[in-house]
Amino acid sequence: MPKTLIIGCGGVAQVIIRKMCQQPDVFPEIVIASRTVSKCDALKAELSDCGVKIATAGVDADNTAELIELMNFTKPVLCVNAALPYQDLTIMDACLECGVNYLDTANYEPRDEAKFEYKWQWAYRERFEKAGLTAILGCGFDPGVTGVFCAYALKHYFDEINYIDILDCNGGDHGYPFATNFNPEINIREVSAKGSYWEDGKWVETEPMEIKREYNFAGVGVKDMYLLHHEELESLALNMPGIRRIRFFMTFGQSYLTHLKCLENVGMTSIEPIDFKGQKIIPLEFLKAVLPDPATLGPRTKGKTNIGCIMRGIKNFAPMEYYVYNICDHEECYKEVKSQAISYTTGVPAMIGAKLFLEGKWKKPGVYNVEEFDPDPFMSELNKCGLPWNEEFKPVQVD
Ligand code: NDP
Repeated sequence: MPKTLIIGCGGVAQVIIRKMCQQPDVFPEIVIASRTVSKCDALKAELSDCGVKIATAGVDADNTAELIELMNFTKPVLCVNAALPYQDLTIMDACLECGVNYLDTANYEPRDEAKFEYKWQWAYRERFEKAGLTAILGCGFDPGVTGVFCAYALKHYFDEINYIDILDCNGGDHGYPFATNFNPEINIREVSAKGSYWEDGKWVETEPMEIKREYNFAGVGVKDMYLLHHEELESLALNMPGIRRIRFFMTFGQSYLTHLKCLENVGMTSIEPIDFKGQKIIPLEFLKAVLPDPATLGPRTKGKTNIGCIMRGIKNFAPMEYYVYNICDHEECYKEVKSQAISYTTGVPAMIGAKLFLEGKWKKPGVYNVEEFDPDPFMSELNKCGLPWNEEFKPVQVD
């Protein structure tokens, strides 16, 4: 019986686990291992009747030796990393050591430098290939579904895609003056960093939030969105033939931006350690501790998300345009898996990636980004598993 190990038991992991538990035939046995084992035990108790055999364990995923011990003891086929980007490399090391396949939703980021890049994980390619193991990188929504959307468009509608705009809109309202929808530390590091986009073979850097556009999102309405750097730009720029420009936009409300600016101005978003009463603390880690836990936003969040990709390119020597997106309702997600839509839209694709791996459809030794696999079975699972997608062939473009 294939056994799947899930590391982490936060907002995203809980969705992955709940969705796996809806499919005991695909995931007959799982192990939930995280830093705080009581969270794993509580979830196990809640899911005791689902037909999936569940075990739990405590693990410090920063510690490769502990991970190796856990993997040697539990013997999973696949490890789904739903902890934080800091743990990607220690978990990949343990997978190599123990002959376990790997999947994650976010690329590695060193703790002391707010810079995420694929180079660290791509450096494992040869080792995974030689070991006959598959590593699937960035299998959430963005990165994740956005890469699958691009691969699907290339396979079915384009000879080449020249322009891609990825639009991530969260029209949800949780009622707090300020909270982040996923891990606050990771989220704030991402949005307070410089923006960048890929154009004509090189990166163009912008100041944080320098480029602003307005877009009328289906299911949500008109929102302001801002250009950010985002990890899938890096892999799509390599994997999409003919690409000339690729950008990523995310919506933010004025209140969120004002709070963030204020926190930045007083130094609360810094990752430089400071002395506080004889102890070293990192302001951003302290801020995380006082902000609402994203896992608690579920019951309060109303509204919808709309995430998708607008593409322009060529088909049969003629111009072609295509927009593919998913609309997800925060309250519907909560009804189904007790989570808001941000964790849902990340956790469901991770579960689908794990499923396709176990079914042998997304299995190839090496380290791959999602757009390097066949998009068709994934697109079909999205429709079945709660993230249906819509297509438009004359979309409004972003200038
Ligand atoms: P949470 O903070 O809610 O959960 C993280 C979990 O990892 C917690 O259970 C935490 O344990 C556990 N953890 C952290 N450090 C360790 C460690 N050293 N050892 C063992 N367990 C550890 O984060 P989210 O669920 O919101 O996010 C999870 C991942 O998903 C992140 O990498 C994030 O970047 C990614 N993500 C990807 C998206 C996409 O679309 N691709 C979108 C949103 C998120 P504890 O309970 O003790 O704190």
